[in-house]
Amino acid sequence: MVTKKANKAILLNLLVVAIIIMSKTLLWSYQWPVSPFVGAHPINGTLGEWRETHLHAGVDIGRGTGTEVYPSVDGLIPNPLGAADTYQNRHFIKVLKKKEAGNFEYIHIVPDTTLLNELRSQEGQDYQVTAGVTLLGTVDDQNHLHFEENDGALNPLRVGGLDNYTDTARTYVSTLEFFRQGTEMHRYNW
Ligand SMILES: [Zn+2]
Repeated sequence: MVTKKANKAILLNLLVVAIIIMSKTLLWSYQWPVSPFVGAHPINGTLGEWRETHLHAGVDIGRGTGTEVYPSVDGLIPNPLGAADTYQNRHFIKVLKKKEAGNFEYIHIVPDTTLLNELRSQEGQDYQVTAGVTLLGTVDDQNHLHFEENDGALNPLRVGGLDNYTDTARTYVSTLEFFRQGTEMHRYNW
């Protein structure tokens, strides 16, 4: 027969296990797409900034032209027919997450020639990439890597995002604007 004391001990053990699992899930992070992968690297642009016509959907990692770019997590490059056209002219590579739904996009890069050849030779088959190992390409003349997660739905700077990043910048509001039917009604500046 299980005593009350034993029950209590079992509950306590379960609680400890639950806390460990939860903290792992909350704090799980992924490596940077540029070397050193443990990071951190300069961030020149953040998620949600207003850019003339749209909200910025990712972060700009301040590593210059020619910097090698690798996947942050293991994944799959969708490889439809015509892969050469799909990737060579667009200056980005999209990698689907392997373990969960979602994707990472590596934008403003010149895709690696060897990788493109591999994609061409395996047309129609999703192509496996390994974090920190498969060279995706190098930063193009935009002089920074635009890095996006889940099409902008997730902030790579969140806890559980890019590894070892501590945001020390103070958050502030500089302007607040109110619009009605596209017409500005009020504007406040600080
Ligand atoms: Zn950007």
